[in-house]
Amino acid sequence: MIREGDRVLLVDRRGKRYLVTVSNREFHTDLGIINLGELVEKDYGDSIASHKGEEFRILKPDVNDIIAKMRRGPQIVHPKDAGIIIAYAGISPGNTVIEAGVGSGALTIFLANIVGPQGRVISYELREDFAKIAQKNIEMAGFADRVTIKLKNIYDGIDEESADHIVLDLPQPENVLPHAVEVLKPGGYFVAYTPCTNQVHRFFQAFQEYREHFYKPRVVEVLVREHEVKKECMRPKTTMLAHTGYITFIRKL
Ligand code: SAM
Repeated sequence: MIREGDRVLLVDRRGKRYLVTVSNREFHTDLGIINLGELVEKDYGDSIASHKGEEFRILKPDVNDIIAKMRRGPQIVHPKDAGIIIAYAGISPGNTVIEAGVGSGALTIFLANIVGPQGRVISYELREDFAKIAQKNIEMAGFADRVTIKLKNIYDGIDEESADHIVLDLPQPENVLPHAVEVLKPGGYFVAYTPCTNQVHRFFQAFQEYREHFYKPRVVEVLVREHEVKKECMRPKTTMLAHTGYITFIRKL
């Protein structure tokens, strides 16, 4: 049952989504005004009507809804890339993941969702303004219990004594290799997301010095081709997200 303070997703007849907090307020849309207080004691799957009689379905928001609606600082890691990071590194419930930089907190939210309430995500970030945006987004997603943001340069070192995985989205992941050798548990993954080929190249040049500590170097790029689903025509969409980043995986021995 829905209670005051809950965050819920409203979906209109066109499929447009609205993320709202249940309170004694009005919410204005082009399909009419919704009295958010009327959401109390409804269940997910029920509907609520605007003053124009338009019906909105009530759903429980998932991480994708939160990330789509949250405030952004820097560019976020796209769900297609977050998915493969989690799957290829085998990130699991209860894991401790060290991450940098936190940016807008999108990848942090995907990681926190997977490690669950018994897991931990410790995210290093250089910029206080981004850390504040990310903290709010993480709270909105309901993961403040398992995420710690540290205002620190991860190139200077990692405070934690051990981690199951290290996941990086920053310009020079090779600067974290010496710290990863100390901190990563055997079998854990070091994952680096970088937008440019020359960053991958520079990483593997630096990696030569550390290769005895790792195996299975793997670099992937994820291309997702979405299809239009219309009654009279199903076909690939004309445009696609052609490039986001390269994802490098190495596994600690
Ligand atoms: N993965 C994030 C997301 O999905 O929202 C976006 C990360 S953003 C592209 C890169 C972040 O790394 C920036 O916020 C930047 O300030 C931070 N950063 C860059 N170098 C860093 C370092 N040496 N230590 C910690 N954070 C760093």
